[in-house]
Order: sequence, then C-alpha cells, then structure tokens
Amino acid sequence: MSYQRPKGTNDILPGESEKWQFVEETARLLFHDYQYSEIRTPIFEHYEVIARSVGDTTDIVSKEMYDFFDKGDRHVTLRPEGTAPIVRSFVENKLYGPEYAKPYKTFYMGPMFRYERPQKGRLRQFHQIGVEAFGSVNPATDVETMAMALDFFKQLGIQQIRLVINSLGDKETRQAYRQALIDYLVPHEAELSEDSKRRLHENPLRVLDSKDKRDQKFVADAPSILDYLSEPAKKHFDEVIKMLDALEIPYEVDANMVRGLDYYTHTIFEIMSDAPGMGAQATICAGGRYDQLVEELGGPATPGFGFALGIERVLLTLAAEEVVIPAMNELDAYVVSIGESTNIEALKVVQAIRNFGFSADRDVMQRKAKAQFKTADKAGAKLVLTLGEDELEQGIINVKSMASRKEKSFPLTKIYEDFSGVYDEMSMLEE
Ligand code: ATP
Ligand code: MG
Repeated sequence: MSYQRPKGTNDILPGESEKWQFVEETARLLFHDYQYSEIRTPIFEHYEVIARSVGDTTDIVSKEMYDFFDKGDRHVTLRPEGTAPIVRSFVENKLYGPEYAKPYKTFYMGPMFRYERPQKGRLRQFHQIGVEAFGSVNPATDVETMAMALDFFKQLGIQQIRLVINSLGDKETRQAYRQALIDYLVPHEAELSEDSKRRLHENPLRVLDSKDKRDQKFVADAPSILDYLSEPAKKHFDEVIKMLDALEIPYEVDANMVRGLDYYTHTIFEIMSDAPGMGAQATICAGGRYDQLVEELGGPATPGFGFALGIERVLLTLAAEEVVIPAMNELDAYVVSIGESTNIEALKVVQAIRNFGFSADRDVMQRKAKAQFKTADKAGAKLVLTLGEDELEQGIINVKSMASRKEKSFPLTKIYEDFSGVYDEMSMLEE
C-alpha cells in the first residue's frame, strides 16, 4: 500500500518552501508600504457566500467548488478565491464603521481550492496573495493598486510582464452591452460550444471568457463593451487611463477581457507573463473594481478594488525568467563533536549559541569528524566549533571561521557567557 497526495495538490518541500517565503515576505513588506493589513479568514465558508458573490453561472461556482454538507447538514465549501470571504468578513465585523480607516485596505494569503483539470500552473489546491481596498470610488485607487501589483513583480525581479486593462462599466453599461452581445451571438448559437450555448442565455458575458476554440472566433469579432460605456463609466475609465499615463505605466486595452467572476464593475485588469513556457497559464495576477459586492453581501453600499495573484504561477515565472532568489537559510555555527563523552557538552554548546539568538546545529548521529565537517560546509556554516575529548578535558573549544579559514581556541565558559563576543571576534579575523 502506498499513499499519494490528492491529484492537483503539491507538497512544498525544503528547497522550494524558501522560495515561497521569499515571495510572501516580499508581499508583506510591500503591502505595508501601501498601508495594507492582513485578514485571515477560514478556509471554508457557507456555500451561499461564494455562490452569491462569484456568481451561480460562473465556472468557479457551477463546476469547480469543493462543496459538501457537514455533519450538521450545513452546505459549506472550501474557498475557491479570497475576495468573497474578505467581503463577508468586512461586513460581518462592521469594518466599514467610523472607527476604521478609509479606504479600508487589507491583504490575505493562503490556499484556495477549485476542482479543475490539473496541469502546469493549474492546481486543485493553489495559493493566492490578494489585496482589497474598500470605500474609494477614486480612479486613483484603481491605478495605485495596479501599480502596487506591478511593483511587487518588479521587486521579485520579474521583468517580462504586461498590464492588460478593460472596463465592465456600471449596471447601465452591462444592460446595454448584454443585449448587444445576445443580438450578435444568437445567429451563431448552433456553432458555439455546449457551455457557451448555456451561457448565452444565463450570462452572455461569460461566453467572452470561454477557453473553447469553437467560441474564440466569435469572441474575437464580438462588439466591444467600451462602445457601450455609460457616461459615468466612460469618465471613470478615461481617468484611469489618464492616471496610468501620468505614472508612465504601459498597458494594453483588451475590450474582450471579462474575467471569470461576476462581481466586477468598471476597471478590470490582468498581469500576463511573457516568459517562455507559461502557455495558457500566463495570467499571474488579476483583479478589478467591485462596487456592488459589499451591498450584495448585506453591507452598506461600499465600493471596492482588489486583485489576487497565484503564487504557483509567480514561481513558474521566476523560474522561466531564471531569477536568482536570495538564500535565506544560512547557518551561523555548526558544532562538531568527536567521541561519545562530548555528547552532553555539545548539546550545551549548541543550545547556548541558539539562546544568544544565532542559528546553530550539531551532529547527533555520532558520525566521523570528516562527515560532520562536510555537513557544516554543505549547510554554509559561518563558524565551525570543534569539541574533541582533549578540548573537553581542558575546558576549551576550537572555533574556525569558514570564510577566512582562521582558527582560535576559546574557553567553554566564554561560549556560555558571551557567544556574541566570540562571533564578533571571529568576524574581525575575516578582515
Ligand atoms: P484562469 O483564467 O487561468 O483560470 P482565473 O480567471 O480563474 O484564471 P482568478 O480567479 O482571477 O483566475 O484568480 C487570480 C489568479 O489566481 C490567476 O491569475 C492565477 O494566477 C491564479 N489561479 C487561478 N486559478 C488557479 C489554479 N487552478 N491553479 C493555480 N493558480 C490559479
Ligand atoms: Mg479559472
């Protein structure tokens, strides 16, 4: 009997997990600069929270949900995305109250679950980092949030990316456009994919999001939503463009882009990677404005803007662009102990070093000195402390700086009382 992880999931092992930490830490630091604070929501939610926000006719809700009835017969689902849970939390905790900052800016990171066909960059458990800003209708919020996403990729060292924008306008826009789209698609109904035949009547905008080849030739010639923008919607989109230009941020407008979630209004955007080999999974970040969602989930009318990025796809992009990720797991000291009688003292030494706030490790496998030195070297230890039976008898320990190859003996008491001093002294020998 051999067990395997569920299809479409990954074990993130050492060697890989450091890259995740680098991506997550970069996000935390940058989001702080933009004054976003973290919210952590549960991994599962009431089914309704997701169905109401993301939309019943979307692929996410109609095909991809990990939903089930719990032992109390409640219909719950693993979260497929982060915005709906955050909006639910925003409303439930009354974060729109007068005591809170406006706009209310928050970020999240963690696993999301969608029952999809697994492939490169497409998993059943994947991970997102996302942000939401509540309370601002100012197009400057749209633009600074997109700029923050671009800053994030720049800070990671990713270069081959493209910002693509569009507007879905307001209610008035969508009503006008919906009809135009139906009028255009109905004559081609028989040639559409099965999914799109259904979408055409339930939610025609969804046809534009189809990845099916049969639909794509019709999508390409579909009427442009930008021709149907209401006066206020056009004004908002024009302002966004003016502000992107003011910041000299390059962008493309794709009038066929609709995104796979129903809650968007006005500005939507995607950041695509042009790195080789990303294929159909080249969208690494996506988001936009959702001015009705807070109200939809029972809160006071509050506009919102946010995005989510897929960590797995960011890591694929980092690899495709051959970005070198800074090493984080350096080791300050390794204690080599020779002979059984040194076991207790080596334990005391390594603990003392750790208690001074340094990273330290030792051999516990009673291996030969040579193997221990090799381990120290592989771990990138800055100092190697060697304790043999002779040293133990004399109450000393040999300390070697791996950078300068210089060595010095110290009394064990010095290690216990002032390892920081030993560390500084050894560093000085390097110069
Ligand atoms: P796609 O069109 O690729 O299916 P989406 O429109 O469903 O993406 P969103 O729901 O907007 O994606 O999620 C934002 C980001 O999360 C995506 O741009 C992508 O980077 C990532 N993402 C979405 N679904 C998956 C998945 N199944 N596996 C890995 N990453 C994903
Ligand atoms: Mg999808």
